[in-house]
Amino acid sequence: MKIRKFTAMLLSLCLCIGALASCSKKEKEPETQAESYYDFFDTVSVVMSYKGDTAEEFSKNSEAVAALLREYHKLFDIYYEYDGINNLKTINKNAGKAPVKVDTKLIDFLLYCKEIYNVTGGKTNIAMGSVLKLWHDAREAGLDSPENAKIPGEAELLEASLHTDINSLVIDKEAGTVLISDPKMQLDVGAIGKGYATEKAAEMLIGMGVSSYVLNIGGNIRAIGTKPGGKAWVTGITNPDKLSSQAFVTEIEISDTSIVTSGNYERFYTVDGKRYHHIIDPETLMPSSYFASVSVILKDSAMADALSTALFCMSYEEGAKLAERIGADVIWVRENGVVLMTAGVKIVKN
Ligand code: ADP
Ligand code: MG
Repeated sequence: MKIRKFTAMLLSLCLCIGALASCSKKEKEPETQAESYYDFFDTVSVVMSYKGDTAEEFSKNSEAVAALLREYHKLFDIYYEYDGINNLKTINKNAGKAPVKVDTKLIDFLLYCKEIYNVTGGKTNIAMGSVLKLWHDAREAGLDSPENAKIPGEAELLEASLHTDINSLVIDKEAGTVLISDPKMQLDVGAIGKGYATEKAAEMLIGMGVSSYVLNIGGNIRAIGTKPGGKAWVTGITNPDKLSSQAFVTEIEISDTSIVTSGNYERFYTVDGKRYHHIIDPETLMPSSYFASVSVILKDSAMADALSTALFCMSYEEGAKLAERIGADVIWVRENGVVLMTAGVKIVKN
């Protein structure tokens, strides 16, 4: 399963990076350096420097980013535990049993996830692990054996949905512990974790005095500063319609901001000719069907990630109000190809 997802991610990432790189060739600019990593968040991560760092400087910076992302990857993992640390898997294993002592980094993150729950009106809910597991397992089984592919049963989805109350996530900041008080509740931070870690990496780089860098963590793009000379980078918004000859629905300029997309075209499986993807609307317990993709442009990559999942699960009208309240720009792509966007999106005019 890792390989399947990996290939899809790599493809979409190549397009993004291609779009980012293509515009730096035209002018005489410091040489771009890039380093790729494959060992965290089940995806491809690329650190790019556009400022003409020496090889040593770039290596120091990119390795620092990798170390930080690796640490968050371990803390956020729900499938594996690691020597010497308690992570989300440890917390999930102890649901209904005992508080688990964890690193402050994990405490701060989980407190942030609670805030996100409130900001998104419960649409991005990390306490939905039991529901998400049913979809995850059905998808994996369906991909392995397409002729037997099934969607989770309504009764089991409903039963799992009774155990998704964010208030059952009990965080004791002073004691440094986390308890899931409902034995059947599980955490899954797939909607926020990557963006949160990306933002932490960007903050660290900025603290190290870096400018003119781009992080592309599995398609979660965070630009630090501008290209040398003050110009913006250009990136494409992937066309969810993979049969179209047009790779992007539009191209936009970004500088000192991030862009994060939630889409229905990368992780899905097919049952009786119908596609079922991986972003689940907490209200229907089914893959959300409002849009084919939603891209959020906002400096804070953590909020951009959380918001992309939430906006994917609500109507354009509701989403536009929420985006305005937060100050995010958004590009919504409907299943029929219609593209909607907020006024602040900087479209590249050819
Ligand atoms: P991507 O996986 O492409 O980064 P998202 O940021 O939208 O896309 O995150 C999707 C992941 O988040 C899913 O794989 C699942 O683990 C989790 N998830 C799906 N729906 C929700 C939801 N409504 N609230 C919280 N997490 C969700
Ligand atoms: Mg997200």
